[in-house]
Formats: sequence, C-alpha cells, structure tokens
Amino acid sequence: MQSTKVARPKQVKIGPYIFEIRYVPNSEMQDCGEVDKVFLWIKIKDDVPEQQQKVTLLHEILHAISSVWDGGRSDEHTEEEFCQRTSALLYDVLANDPQVRQWLFDK
Ligand SMILES: [Zn+2]
Repeated sequence: MQSTKVARPKQVKIGPYIFEIRYVPNSEMQDCGEVDKVFLWIKIKDDVPEQQQKVTLLHEILHAISSVWDGGRSDEHTEEEFCQRTSALLYDVLANDPQVRQWLFDK
C-alpha cells in the first residue's frame, strides 16, 4: 500500500488569527524560519530537509502562540529559549511516541 504524503500547510489558525505560511528560497532567508506577529505570516526556509522545516514550523508556531497569549510582551531571549527547547523536544515526543500521540489526538 502506498502512503499518501500530506501536503505542507499553507496557513495555521492561532487564536483568532490566521497566519499564512510561506516557503521561501534559501537565498532569501538567513534563519530557518521567521514569524511576523503583526502581518500574520510565517516564513519557512525551503530546500532544507523536510524534518528541519517541520521542527521550524512548530518553533514559529510557538512564537506566534506566545505573541497571541501575552501581546508580544515576553522577554525576547526567554521566548527564544522556550521556543527552541520546546519545538525540538515536543516534536520528538509526538513523532516518536505513537501511543502518546494516538491517545492525545485520538488517531
Ligand atoms: Zn525563534
């Protein structure tokens, strides 16, 4: 049986806001990801391994959540550290523990 590949998401809704997700060429970006909390977009560096894009998207989503939650008042360094730690390790738990994932999301 052939597994169907899920398309990369083009938007994500966080609270009342819909963030547009753009995948942009490597040459146009320095970091792996960027989020604009005012204009509501997330940019993900294209052409890097898909695993990298996935963790980066989760990372930028956490930045966006933080902004929606506290209106952008959090300390930049603290927020970056939180997003850095949480995105990689949360991704790892969800990716590698099917029982936890299935129970959490019922699928
Ligand atoms: Zn960050």
